[in-house]
Amino acid sequence: MEELRIFAPATVANLSCGFDVLGACLDNVGDQMLLRKNDLNQIRITKITGQELPFETDKNVAGVAVKALLEKLGTNQGFDIEIHKKIKAGSGIGSSAASSAGAVFAVNKLMGQPFTLKELIPFAMEGERLASGNAHADNVAPALLGGFCLVKSYQPLEILKLPCPPELRVVVLHPLIEVKTKDSRALIKLNVSLQKAVSQWGNLGAFVSALYTEDYGLLGRSLKDEIIEPVRSILIPFFDDLKEIAIKNGALGFGISGSGPSVYAMCKGQKSAEKVKEAMQLFYQEKGIDFDLHLSKINTDGIKIL
Ligand code: ADP
Repeated sequence: MEELRIFAPATVANLSCGFDVLGACLDNVGDQMLLRKNDLNQIRITKITGQELPFETDKNVAGVAVKALLEKLGTNQGFDIEIHKKIKAGSGIGSSAASSAGAVFAVNKLMGQPFTLKELIPFAMEGERLASGNAHADNVAPALLGGFCLVKSYQPLEILKLPCPPELRVVVLHPLIEVKTKDSRALIKLNVSLQKAVSQWGNLGAFVSALYTEDYGLLGRSLKDEIIEPVRSILIPFFDDLKEIAIKNGALGFGISGSGPSVYAMCKGQKSAEKVKEAMQLFYQEKGIDFDLHLSKINTDGIKIL
């Protein structure tokens, strides 16, 4: 096999109760990539469509992630990488993660699969380090493994794939303003009160339980965030109104996707998600704010070969 075309999915990280440790993979939202072996012993970004992103290998997350993988393998095999972007950079739905995870997935396949999917995560995390200054795994893990993923620990890196209740749908609204993960991170306080920590780990534990028991009510009640949301939501136009509208129209839970500005509403069933989507759309149209809107199942497969 000399080349591979893939679908690299968008992801929703944090999911309110799981800052830096929880993420979910989306189904019909994502980029396409084409990776091809070359005889030049070089990693080249040869084509980018849909977005203006760096072509220099060391400045593009796909290049950095592939470099980390090939260095570990001790090979100087070259690759040409095409990135066809549908996910906007800085949207908060894992644009950089899709490229890093997609690139290492395809290179691994083309090299005869020396690594398992889990073993690819640290290479993809190098792309995240470049994008945001922090090698977080809560987008790249669900992009690679699919479904819901929990980062149990970073040192050592231990990642768990969680079950996915079948009726879950996610509505993602992306206000077309760019929030850099770096800037959004700068808002976060480094210390957390014990009271808030207790409530957060209660919610995270309950969320995981709800996934196993398919308890949609509990799942919704667990999608709470008293630590990050209050400070980050100020960057998102009409966040509180959107949240109220989503919940009033039947969403199980609502919060910031990743570092924003995208927001997500978790819903039970397609019909309910469509109702929530329409209500959010109407509200933003009235306010005259440009946005992208997606409705997706949870993608339990992750990256797909096209
Ligand atoms: P997101 O959460 O949407 O991934 P980030 O702010 O984490 O947004 O990452 C976007 C940053 O990463 C931008 O500065 C962008 O220029 C940089 N970047 C480099 N290569 C890529 C790539 N292939 N895809 C997306 N972003 C990239």
